[in-house]
Formats: sequence, structure tokens, C-alpha cells
Amino acid sequence: MKRKLVIGNWKMNGDRQANAQLLDALHRVWGSLREVDIAICPPYPYLVQVAELLAGTHVQLGAQNLDVHGNGAFTGEVSSLMLLDLGCRFVLVGHSERRAFFAESDAQVARKYAAALHAGLIPVLCVGETLEQRCAETTEQVVTEQILAVLQQVGVEGLAAGVIAYEPVWAIGTGETATPAQAQAVHRHIRTLLAEQDSALAATLSILYGGSVKAGNVGELFAQPDIDGGLIGGASLDAASFAAICRAARP
Ligand code: PEP
Repeated sequence: MKRKLVIGNWKMNGDRQANAQLLDALHRVWGSLREVDIAICPPYPYLVQVAELLAGTHVQLGAQNLDVHGNGAFTGEVSSLMLLDLGCRFVLVGHSERRAFFAESDAQVARKYAAALHAGLIPVLCVGETLEQRCAETTEQVVTEQILAVLQQVGVEGLAAGVIAYEPVWAIGTGETATPAQAQAVHRHIRTLLAEQDSALAATLSILYGGSVKAGNVGELFAQPDIDGGLIGGASLDAASFAAICRAARP
């Protein structure tokens, strides 16, 4: 059985004091969560602080975004090489908030995915439909297009080196969660899509669920056969909630 992966996405939250308090509380539980792969994605300015606070634990560092260029005149941007230099292992690409608020297209997301891979980072490709798209019954089509855009850029091998996170946009930060059956149905669709490319890819690629996952709903979600872990936003900012979610990911 695959090890589950739980990634905390702090989004644009935190400060040095709050980060230290949160990680101090979590430090007491990391030891009991060794059978779970865990990563934390703080905002850029806190990557160094969080790297220091995670040192000596099995919990890995991730970033929330990257620029496609290696370096140069791109004021305000951060490259994959810089993330690697700071100790990042994972980087989110195509989070719905970046697609919605920063107009990131499927093509741009694919280029970011490729840049992350090229640097040796593990890209976490976020896909998911809006409420309008779900109501129009185009969920599978939307998710398929988002994944194929990346597949065309990096091929089966490139996709196999990353992680996919299915996050219905209507469930992110809204308190609305997809039912376990709704989430499982889309995860199954993704798994089938991957199997059409390569059966080993379908079997080994981790597909995370994200969207208002909480201690109270995580058990049923993680029990679904095609859900390999979670991408956790709001609940990753609360030590007790994040610890409970990670505990639910133990075999
Ligand atoms: C996210 O930020 O990817 C996310 C799933 O957020 P939340 O858990 O708050 O819905």
C-alpha cells in the first residue's frame, strides 16, 4: 500500500511568532507520524524559518509557487533553483487561487511544472473544476484538459515524477467539502486517464484531495481507494487539526 502524503498549504498566512508556535506544537507529534509523508508550504519569506524548524524531522518543505525562469530580470519572482537552494522538496503548481487571481493558464502551469521538474523539485499539480463547471457537468473534461496540458509538456515520465491534487474550486476555503463519493469519482476518473497513458503511472502516482478537509471529514475521504492523501489549507494552520488529519493518513 502506498504511503499517504499530506501537504499543508499555509497560503498567505503566518508571521514568525505564529509559525514558531504552530511548529512547536506539531513538533511533539511528528514522531508518531513517521508512516506518513508530510510537507509544509509556507509563504516565501518564511521558507528559511520553517526549514530550520523542520530540521531533524521527516517533514519536508514545499513552496506555493515558482517562476519558470532560472534567474534574471524578473522583479518579484522566485525561481525553482532558489527554492531548491532553500531546501524545498515540493512546489505547488496551478493552485486554483493562482489560476483565478493571477490568470495562470493551463499552458503556464505546464511550463511551471516543467521548470520545477528540471530543478529536481516534486511539482504538485493542482486541478479542479469551478461550481459552474460542475453544474454544467464538465468536471471530468476540465480536469482532463488541465492534466493533458502538463502531460504534453513533460510526457509520462515527467508526470510520474510529480503529484496530482484534485481540488474542486467550490470546496477550497469555503467549508464545503466534496462528499467522499464525489471526490472518489473524480480521483477514479484521473486514475483511468493516467492508465490510458501508462498503467504503471496510474498505479504509482499519488492523487491528493483538497478542499476544506478537516479532522471531522478526513477519515471517510482518506478511506476512498483512489485518494492518496490531502492538500490542506485552512486546517493546516491549526496544530490540533493538522495533527488529526496527518494521523488519519497512517496505514
Ligand atoms: C488549499 O489551499 O489547497 C485548500 C484545499 O484549502 P482549504 O483546505 O482551506 O479548503
